[in-house]
Amino acid sequence: MDRVNLLDLDSAQVAAFLASVEEKPFRARQLSRWIHRRGAGQFDAMTDLAKSLRAKLAHTAEIKAPGVIRDSTSDDGTRKWLLDVGNGNAIETVFIPEDDRGTLCVSTQAGCAVNCRFCSTGKQGYSRNLTTAEIIGQLWWAEHALRKTLGIAAEHERVISNVVLMGMGEPLQNYEPTLRALRLMLDDDAYGLSRRRVTLSTSGMVPQMDRLGQDCPVALAVSLHAPNDALRDELVPLNRKYPLRELLAACRRYLKVAPRDFITFEYVMLDGLNDSDAHARELVALVAEVPCKFNLIPFNPFPGSGLKRSSQDRIRAFAQRLQDAGIVTTTRKTRGDDIDAACGQLAGEVQDRTRLAQRASRKLPPLVAANS
Ligand code: SAH
Ligand code: SF4
Repeated sequence: MDRVNLLDLDSAQVAAFLASVEEKPFRARQLSRWIHRRGAGQFDAMTDLAKSLRAKLAHTAEIKAPGVIRDSTSDDGTRKWLLDVGNGNAIETVFIPEDDRGTLCVSTQAGCAVNCRFCSTGKQGYSRNLTTAEIIGQLWWAEHALRKTLGIAAEHERVISNVVLMGMGEPLQNYEPTLRALRLMLDDDAYGLSRRRVTLSTSGMVPQMDRLGQDCPVALAVSLHAPNDALRDELVPLNRKYPLRELLAACRRYLKVAPRDFITFEYVMLDGLNDSDAHARELVALVAEVPCKFNLIPFNPFPGSGLKRSSQDRIRAFAQRLQDAGIVTTTRKTRGDDIDAACGQLAGEVQDRTRLAQRASRKLPPLVAANS
């Protein structure tokens, strides 16, 4: 019998699983706390569970996150893990420490089908959706690895205070597994994050934005990148299916149920393409009816993109235009680019994938086992 991976289940499903093996569903809470709050990877460690239950769990269940292929730390403290999700696919998770918070940037797919022109994940193509275990496993692994590095033993002292679904993949094209992972992030017996500290970023999957608003309205970031349909059609091909008018209407509907009273619009700054004063003016008019903030992202180049980052002066002038119109605008600091951990550089690089395939064919063990 295949064992059930408990990282795949939200708390209601853990309770149902326990009932299915004739155990008391209320043990779910204890089990969840061991796994998510204390980082247990083995049932033996769960000393306040009866020995018979631990033995049963060891036969029927497992706690399995993706294995770590590489663990790199940037000069600025950004830490990136390259994780093995099987069949030569690798995904990336990035931790960004700041003075007042620690943010984990999580992937939801291996590759991405949306294929935005400026994104190296998109250029890599789509491989597959991640499972809930692979999504929440990134947080599980990173939180407990960081605690170990920092020598933090207490279970209530969290290193990761914020999660952004801004790694590889379009989260709303992998709806159910992402939703279950979001619920675990918010669950007090798991990570206990507030809805405001969990941000999902989407390129504009309109029907799923509405569903998310009903199911689990976390903070929402929308990747806008262009002030009109003609340009957005080119940069974000999904725009041909869900054009700006529909996207902005979905943003307004989302705000009726959301924990934040604004949408964060992300806007990648591409030299000569979307960064003129005229574009800024068009943008201000476009978003006039959506309470929003802007986050300008200097384009992070990758080989063969054929695109250039806007100059600092241009980014500053563009930001000023938005601010003059009363829109709070920040420019994202580029972090971790010495380890290719900056936005849009998360590709599980081709050479990594080749190396991974070589490792697999030589049947080498992963460099670090996630459950060790
Ligand atoms: N698929 C989702 C979430 C992952 S992408 C989305 O598109 O929103 C996260 C953010 O990184 C998006 O705003 C995306 O536009 C941005 N991004 C992608 N490639 C980039 C690059 N090369 N330089 C800077 N930002 C990039
Ligand atoms: Fe996919 Fe987001 Fe990259 Fe576009 S920017 S290709 S939606 S990961």
